[in-house]
Amino acid sequence: MNWFTMINVPNNQGQNWDVYIQKARRYILDKVERVLGTAISPLIEVEEILDPRTIESKTSSAQGALYGNSSNNRYAAFLRHANYSPSIKNLYFCGGSVHPGGGIPLALLSARIVSEMIEKKQPHG
Ligand SMILES: Cc1cc2nc3c(=O)[nH]c(=O)nc-3n(C[C@H](O)[C@H](O)[C@H](O)COP(=O)(O)OP(=O)(O)OC[C@H]3O[C@@H](n4cnc5c(N)ncnc54)[C@H](O)[C@@H]3O)c2cc1C
Repeated sequence: MNWFTMINVPNNQGQNWDVYIQKARRYILDKVERVLGTAISPLIEVEEILDPRTIESKTSSAQGALYGNSSNNRYAAFLRHANYSPSIKNLYFCGGSVHPGGGIPLALLSARIVSEMIEKKQPHG
């Protein structure tokens, strides 16, 4: 059986991830075991953990953030990175960490926006 657990966490700012991971791991296992009434810890054969440090090193995302700039306030949607570079002509960005946002549907929308900008040769800035 393959089991995947995802926990939302902040981006990497040098937190002591190893401590947080051990605490969260224990908490999750305790809860699942309590709910199922079965000890699953001894059944784990292979385990892999991705945290913001490993996400950063594997994907080059800034501070290991999956969705770009933190979006914890009501204005966050307006502060996302634009789909073009204001300083480098003809440099465009699309994907989950820029406008309009993260997740497959928005990343695809982002691609459409960029393709339309290029098609219309829209000026930047
Ligand atoms: C665990 C997890 C679960 C998720 N679940 C959902 C979900 O249920 N629904 C949903 O809508 N969204 C989900 N998301 C979010 C969604 O996956 C992302 O928002 C989306 O994939 C972002 O698309 P992207 O094209 O920007 O980046 P990616 O999909 O990460 O694509 C970037 C690609 O670029 C490649 N790459 C990187 N560097 C280089 C390089 N130097 N040269 C060449 N290629 C390179 C990478 O290998 C990768 O294939 C999830 C994300 C995670 C991590």
